[in-house]
Amino acid sequence: ENFDGLGLHEDLLRGIYSYGFEKPSAIQQRGIKPILEGHDTIGQAQSGTGKTATFAIAILQKIDYEIRECQALVLAPTRELAQQIQKVVLALGDYLKVKCHACVGGTAVRDDIQKLSQGVHMVVGTPGRVYDMIDKKYLRLDSMNLFVLDEADEMLSRGFKDQIYDVFRKLPSSIQVALFSATMPPDILDLTSKFMRNPIRILV
Ligand code: AMP
Repeated sequence: ENFDGLGLHEDLLRGIYSYGFEKPSAIQQRGIKPILEGHDTIGQAQSGTGKTATFAIAILQKIDYEIRECQALVLAPTRELAQQIQKVVLALGDYLKVKCHACVGGTAVRDDIQKLSQGVHMVVGTPGRVYDMIDKKYLRLDSMNLFVLDEADEMLSRGFKDQIYDVFRKLPSSIQVALFSATMPPDILDLTSKFMRNPIRILV
């Protein structure tokens, strides 16, 4: 099994191979396709399994590059992780010329406003700053169709529950959701049952 069988854009495949990946990891083999097909997807996976590229590849494939509007939102528990995800997205999406902004605390709000007003295809960020940008209407949600929560258990244990629920309530109700978490405590199950529809579950 290699990346060629997934029906990915030529320029995305080029990005994947240039990044040095030869074949998909277990979570990539099982997780990319359901997200591409539009299913809500739960990936129970630790870091180190290749979960970042799982959702990054799916997002990069689904974006319509003709429109410069934010179509995917990724939330992560820390600034460092959000910036790391952005790096992976930019590398894998290099030949697609993807515009991906990292919206994280501890940076100048004016930079967020500037980047978002120029138009981006996707945003990756931490819940507080992202909610702030949504609330102030700098981050528009009209074209958003994929919402990814990375390390969801970690986000909840860092106290981001309210912000995550707030973001969910602002998103279009038809939004596709992909959630990655190393563990599945009750508060995560609560979230999945409230906001996800018939999710496909993958355990690696
Ligand atoms: P992650 O679980 O997303 O933090 O990824 C863990 C590490 O595995 C990162 O250093 C990735 O670059 C690497 N990795 C992810 N997918 C692949 C792949 N298909 N082939 C080789 N390395 C990979």
